[in-house]
Amino acid sequence: MVVVMSADAEEADVKAVVAVVEGAGGEAFVSRGVNRTIVGLVGDVEQFGTLNLHALRGVSDVIRISVPYKLVSRENHPDRSVVRVGGVPIGPGTMTLIAGPCAVETPEQTLQAARMAQAAGATLLRGGAFKPRTSPYAFQGLGEKGLGILADVREETGLPIVTEVVDANDVELVASYADMLQVGTRNMQNFALLQAVGGIGKPVMLKRGMNATIEEWLMAAEYIAQRGNLDIVLCERGIRTFEKATRNTLDISAVPVAQRLSHLPVIVDPSHSGGRRDLVLPLTRAAIAVGADGVIIDVHPSPETALCDGPQALVDEDVRELAATARDLPPMVGRTLTTV
Ligand code: PEP
Ligand code: MN
Repeated sequence: MVVVMSADAEEADVKAVVAVVEGAGGEAFVSRGVNRTIVGLVGDVEQFGTLNLHALRGVSDVIRISVPYKLVSRENHPDRSVVRVGGVPIGPGTMTLIAGPCAVETPEQTLQAARMAQAAGATLLRGGAFKPRTSPYAFQGLGEKGLGILADVREETGLPIVTEVVDANDVELVASYADMLQVGTRNMQNFALLQAVGGIGKPVMLKRGMNATIEEWLMAAEYIAQRGNLDIVLCERGIRTFEKATRNTLDISAVPVAQRLSHLPVIVDPSHSGGRRDLVLPLTRAAIAVGADGVIIDVHPSPETALCDGPQALVDEDVRELAATARDLPPMVGRTLTTV
């Protein structure tokens, strides 16, 4: 059981909840987030039900749920959520296109990629300044300099920024530039990082771990929510299977499954799942058809010189086709492409 305190609850209100729970022989774990405080209860749920916790001062909600993830579960929150990123909605009814380079390399490359993203109809810009690379010898990203480039390109194009944070110690720095923080597949179970982004008060895009079940993915989201941040977007980016023809296997069924289990928006990354330029548009169509709330796509002005993931980046000709797909397909499944 979880007690959600209202935004204006005082410390004394939280203490009163803890006292009532402990008085009934239960344990109460308090988690103070930026926007709200959440108290997790451990003990006899039936008995907690008799305590009339709703009536205590400062309590906004008392949630009793059968699944292990509580705050992100749809049991507690039947309506699907809309997460706003710099004013751009991601959620039911719309299809939001996020595009940009895998990595920020130079100001020119980032601006050109952002223009390509806009030409495709994107309303959010992706781009990594901190890159989690499999090889320690590969380009690791420009770090804070890259964040500065993204901020300049946002200024120039008006596109809010989605960028990855790989270390809990960098969360404040990245959040000072980003409109949405990305937690990548390799960090989906980096619990210190999840708690840090949960405490920062900016939307978070949580990619599914390449070896994670849907339940593990939702439990990772719960770590963020438990710190008071419910502005979470789930991203299916492909999982590891025995298949070697693609970089990862896009688990397309994870989209409706996660949407049924959780109220959070679910988007798809066709670039990192297929890992090949020729698969990005077909997988994008599949994602829109299955009901994804958005897609996030790599574009690059010259993939042959890209420092990261060139083989999966779309080029200009593809961008025209992506624009047509993003415009024409969503209405067929009852959605409209998000515009600004
Ligand atoms: C990325 O989006 O740049 C990225 C590294 O993705 P993933 O974590 O899914 O591999
Ligand atoms: Mn990449």
